[in-house]
Amino acid sequence: MSSTEPLRPARTRYAPSPTGRTHLGNLRTALFSWLLARRTGGQFILRIEDTDRNRFVPEAQAELMDSLRWLGITWDEGPDVGGAFAPYVQSQNREAYAAVAEQLVKAGAAYYCDCTPERLEVVRKLQQSRGQPPRYDNHCRDRALEAGPDRVIRLKMPEDGVTAVPDLVRHEVRFENRLIGDPVLLKSDGYPTYHLAVVVDDHRMQISHVLRAEEWLPSTPIHIHLYEALGWTHPVWAHLPLVTDFERRKIKKRDSGQGDEEYAEYVEMARVSTLREKGFLPGAVMNFLAFLGWHPSTTQEIFDPEGLIEAFSLDRLSDSPGVFDVDRLMWFNQQHLRRLSASQLATLALPSLSAAYPDSARLDDKAWLEKLIASVRDELITVTDVSERARFAFHDPVEMSPEALEHLGTPKAYLALKELRESLPAEDTISPEAAEALFKGLRERLKSNQGLNGKQIMQPIRAALTGVTGGAHLTDIVVLIGADACRRRIDQALHHNI
Ligand code: GLU
Repeated sequence: MSSTEPLRPARTRYAPSPTGRTHLGNLRTALFSWLLARRTGGQFILRIEDTDRNRFVPEAQAELMDSLRWLGITWDEGPDVGGAFAPYVQSQNREAYAAVAEQLVKAGAAYYCDCTPERLEVVRKLQQSRGQPPRYDNHCRDRALEAGPDRVIRLKMPEDGVTAVPDLVRHEVRFENRLIGDPVLLKSDGYPTYHLAVVVDDHRMQISHVLRAEEWLPSTPIHIHLYEALGWTHPVWAHLPLVTDFERRKIKKRDSGQGDEEYAEYVEMARVSTLREKGFLPGAVMNFLAFLGWHPSTTQEIFDPEGLIEAFSLDRLSDSPGVFDVDRLMWFNQQHLRRLSASQLATLALPSLSAAYPDSARLDDKAWLEKLIASVRDELITVTDVSERARFAFHDPVEMSPEALEHLGTPKAYLALKELRESLPAEDTISPEAAEALFKGLRERLKSNQGLNGKQIMQPIRAALTGVTGGAHLTDIVVLIGADACRRRIDQALHHNI
């Protein structure tokens, strides 16, 4: 490990706010935090930051935990498993944050403020008209207000100078204090703001490394002053560049107004629930995510989770945005699929096959199913593609695509199909060796007797047996469907020759 790496086990956390559906950008933060904890033999903590009651979505926590579990990101402490620093849900610890805020008031580092939303709006408009950046004007700082209804607690920030944020990705980022108004720590509803809760909990839970999205960087000077005011040591920060779309914008869920369907579909692909439904492998998604903002020291691209843990290092985090490239995600999935055995793939594909072909008794034949999967595996991008790719094995009579029809109905097609029909064995079962021999003989005869080339032979046969123009090897197809189905399908196709 390099010098920026912790020598001792890291305690990291993922601290999502349950405000909506989890997407890959959020999970990338979870993944890197998890990898660091596992790499160093430390602990990974899940903490729910649900203090923004206006944006709270009740189902979000379960969905988020489900997404993490699906990806294989396990936590050592959290709302469901508990731990020495419970509670791990911030709304359950309100008194503790309030006590810290009050303690800061007593120490003179914070104060009560009774500014109404209306007053704050007037201040904001005035600043806007003067071309000044918006900030609280510290109106109540020296008013020595007591606690009371509708009062918030604000932290006293330095009014001049610069706060330097040490960051593992960006090294040092400097913020001018005069641009930051005194931030709210405790809201009038008794809930802490993000600033107060995150600092209290990262300290309380002994977090050593905070990895979080870059959008939180401007909050970090506030956190630094809060740590100082409380006399606590702050953790190491690494602010991760955003995961963006192709135009380098933060991926947003936009209104699916006219013309935006494609974008909406693209955004949908960044949701774990969608990827799961579409048959992506968790290991492939993890591998893809790891490369969004990190790279290993070698050119190796395909990693299983253990390999990622082994290779992970903070000094290879990138400082430029990671683009969410669906083609690349599909490529990773394809690579991971190819590494699975036919038996593993069969187990994964069975649910979608059973849903697509509920009446097929052949799905119970494990050996047949594995052969089927092996015949289409190289064409698969996701597991659910199996149903489409393997359609030839279930649909009898086949449904002819317009492209397949183009290969039928000619004298040459007729010759090829006739020859195949006559070469088929009387019994239904065809062994792989028999299938090889059958096609070899057929090609030789049609070539020397009729002058047909490979394409002229194989295209109509494929069209007749599968109804489409691409897919598995013909030898695999005849083995899988058997001679009787071949005969029926050839007869069906020969009707197109009339
Ligand atoms: N609750 C914040 C979020 O939803 C966490 C930010 C942090 O990690 O400090 O992203």
